[in-house]
Amino acid sequence: MFPCFHASYAPLIKMEPIIQTKHMDVVYNLGKKNEFKAITDFNLDIYPGEFIALFGPSGCGKSTIFYSILGILQPSSGEILIKGENPYAFSANEMVNYQSRIIGIIYQAFFLINSISVMDNVVLPQAFLGIPWWKRKKRGQELLDRFGIGNKAENFPMLLSGGQSQRVSVARSMVNNPDILLADEPTGNLDSKSSEQVMRVLDEINKKDKKTVIMITHNASQLVWCHRVFYMKDGQLLRTVPNPDKKQIIKFDRQKVLVTEIELLSQMFPYFEPEDLKVKSLVNYLTQDLDFLQIDRLEKAVKLMILRTMGRDNFQEILNAPLARGGVGLPRTRAKFLADKVGQLLKHSEDVRRYRRRMNEGTFFSREDKLINELLYYIVEEAEIKLDRDQKSILKQAVRDRVSGLIRKEELEIILKNPVKKGGVGLDKTDREKIVFYFEKLLTQGIDTANKS
Ligand code: ADP
Ligand code: MG
Repeated sequence: MFPCFHASYAPLIKMEPIIQTKHMDVVYNLGKKNEFKAITDFNLDIYPGEFIALFGPSGCGKSTIFYSILGILQPSSGEILIKGENPYAFSANEMVNYQSRIIGIIYQAFFLINSISVMDNVVLPQAFLGIPWWKRKKRGQELLDRFGIGNKAENFPMLLSGGQSQRVSVARSMVNNPDILLADEPTGNLDSKSSEQVMRVLDEINKKDKKTVIMITHNASQLVWCHRVFYMKDGQLLRTVPNPDKKQIIKFDRQKVLVTEIELLSQMFPYFEPEDLKVKSLVNYLTQDLDFLQIDRLEKAVKLMILRTMGRDNFQEILNAPLARGGVGLPRTRAKFLADKVGQLLKHSEDVRRYRRRMNEGTFFSREDKLINELLYYIVEEAEIKLDRDQKSILKQAVRDRVSGLIRKEELEIILKNPVKKGGVGLDKTDREKIVFYFEKLLTQGIDTANKS
């Protein structure tokens, strides 16, 4: 059984979860021949203002969780609490209030009513609340305008594209200004451009309106929008992983985390499936024949190199020297290979650092072109890629721009990816990754730290 990491994350500040399940089991067809346990011992905490992804393969129980939160599928054991209350104890009126004012929902299939206008679809949830027509219409138009479909109010849903339909259903879900937005595979039926638009809308609802958003997805590329990802498999919560690229709503106490290798890996590679993490761990093991003492010695030697208190040749000597004599104990060829790599990288990063400093001072750097050429030559050699003249000149400009900080990592990636016709280098994924990987290592080392010599 895979360890459940979520249990080890304790929030640092006292805040009540907006949604919580405790040891929740959900069983379909309970007591019948076709009884099926879809959710097992599910513990989840979602805090106000979070954007959460429930992520996992088809059939793992994501929609089942959705229905349980929605109040239409009662857990067979355990608890579910919304704002501290059990929705399954609500009276009929309280349930209507809950489902119309506390929770907004959107589905993969939109579920718009085709025989009434877009506007009527959007304001339908208000009809049951006795709100006058002019008020409903004002609210509906506001939302449609906001999501970029204001001019479609009088159309019928059949005339809309998928992306537009989903934005109508987002407007409908927000019409009563609920606290929580539940979205079940909201982009499952959309092309990538429409998906992006819908994701932006959800992001805005989370950021600007401060709504708690829970999105169900099996598409890993959408996880970047979320604060935390809840990985599910076979009806269980495997782990929850905070997105390191987003400022968290809740500060989690990392000290309390049990440090296992897989857990560390899962923080470094938050969007990997547990299986992928296991692969990483194993490959790491196969390539990493060094023991702790060796790694410790290697780190110390690398540090001396980074601090420039040791030269390349001494470094190689230490790598090659036997353990008993304070070395790392690597064979000669491997010691040379590593020393070459580290030496090259640090030399380039030193150039990058100098280059950046001159640039900041506004002075001309006479070796600029030479540096860029060297870098380019090294990168192309190292990555073993063949480039024609056009590609080389575009890559050279990109290298220059990245070194001088004119473009970010993401922009470099795009230039490397785009075809030459569109001003890119047109590299495949492997080559792009090699280049970007080397570059980021280089720039990390090239950052001016305390030592300003
Ligand atoms: P997901 O949304 O992650 O694709 P679901 O929550 O829809 O998964 O389904 C989880 C599991 O429960 C699946 O194995 C599915 O076959 C089963 N299941 C879903 N709905 C029912 C139902 N009404 N009766 C019996 N089994 C169901
Ligand atoms: Mg589903």
